Amino acid sequence: MTDSRHAELTDLAGLYLVGALTPGERQEFEAHLETCAVCQGEIGSMRPAVDALLLAVPSRVPPIDLRRRVLRDVADLPSAADSEPQKPRPTGLAWIPLAASLLAALALGLYAWQLRSRVQNLETRLALAMEQAASAQREILGLRQAALEARSTLAVLAAPDLARIELAGQPAAPQARARAFWSRSRGLVLTASNLPPPPPGRVYQLWVVTADRPISAGLLEPNASGDVTATIQTPADLPTPVAMAVTLEPAGGVPLPTGERYLLGTPATNL
Ligand SMILES: [Zn+2]
Repeated sequence: MTDSRHAELTDLAGLYLVGALTPGERQEFEAHLETCAVCQGEIGSMRPAVDALLLAVPSRVPPIDLRRRVLRDVADLPSAADSEPQKPRPTGLAWIPLAASLLAALALGLYAWQLRSRVQNLETRLALAMEQAASAQREILGLRQAALEARSTLAVLAAPDLARIELAGQPAAPQARARAFWSRSRGLVLTASNLPPPPPGRVYQLWVVTADRPISAGLLEPNASGDVTATIQTPADLPTPVAMAVTLEPAGGVPLPTGERYLLGTPATNL
């Protein structure tokens, strides 16, 4: 439980540990501490450092009593100077300035330590938030890309001049199948399945075969199941295809087919 006074009281943790709170502050802080797991954790994590530092203070210094004695001594000074010059100074006070400055350094150090761990905590959360934002951004770009592709695929499939070409698996891959949709005005969509994974350094390349020569329509990258859908822009002056083919070629593709055919099909009707 963290009560509403946490923000106000948590800075007192360091002073509490070194016994530098007034009785009123101490009572208030202890009441809060009972209900606040965050402050309990803070105290628990600071205590070893405080114990180590207090050990460094001369053993005759009673830390709990320190503030009261320092204050009393400061209050005593004027009267000692003014009215009772002969009054012997209390013994053992030589350590007071040292202890007081140690205490101040300790309290400051603890405060800085608290601040530093809070800053680190905030930095970690900021880095995490930025990473999440970047990942969301990448996801949005990916979705936008997919949406654009889906839109151009749909545009081809809805074309008034759509032609369909079935491609059959060749001896290199008898199980492979593909279907191409071609619109002179809108482009080409090819969807293939059961293509075996290409050997290292080789890629599948799609060809639009015209009466003249085969024209490369791009590379195909099937997924792990051997499926791929590709949407390809084709030039409006593309000569009418007489066939479509997929061959296995060196990575990066080639200007004219050189490798074995994996898929081949001709239009069912004249285009
Ligand atoms: Zn608290």
